[in-house]
Amino acid sequence: MKENNIKNEARIGIARKTARKLIADTGIEKPPILLGPVFDFLKKDVNIDLKAWDFPESIDGIHVLNNEKSVIGYNQNSNYFRKRFTIAHELGHFLLKHLIKEHDINFYDKSPQEREANQFAAELLMPLDFIKADFETNQNIDDLSKKYLVSKEAMGWKLYDQKII
Ligand SMILES: [Zn+2]
Repeated sequence: MKENNIKNEARIGIARKTARKLIADTGIEKPPILLGPVFDFLKKDVNIDLKAWDFPESIDGIHVLNNEKSVIGYNQNSNYFRKRFTIAHELGHFLLKHLIKEHDINFYDKSPQEREANQFAAELLMPLDFIKADFETNQNIDDLSKKYLVSKEAMGWKLYDQKII
């Protein structure tokens, strides 16, 4: 019963749609989805900054709002692929208007806001249309993860979640 309620609360469709709109608005037409241009586009309208932080291992990212300025912090000690997913995930919290403190990120987190942020991040970094087209010619997850600059775990999770594999 509780499980169902949690599922119903997560706005998966809205999260994915928000990511697709951002990709289109930024003008990105092929992978990899680089976050620099995405932030450049967003900064035209919102006061948002990125900051590397020396977090302990248990913290991937943080989203701070003060005096109408948002800062997304990410763990500077993480590897490049994980940093990208963390930033995309925190950006999801920001755009979907979640109030979140510093935290670790887990694909299998069941809370509605975490599910939404993960779905946003996965769609932003691995847009369904793009990976579907690529998967037709190459089913190697290692190759795909390198092409999209995401971890193999993230690519596998996305392909499975979208029922491509
Ligand atoms: Zn989160």
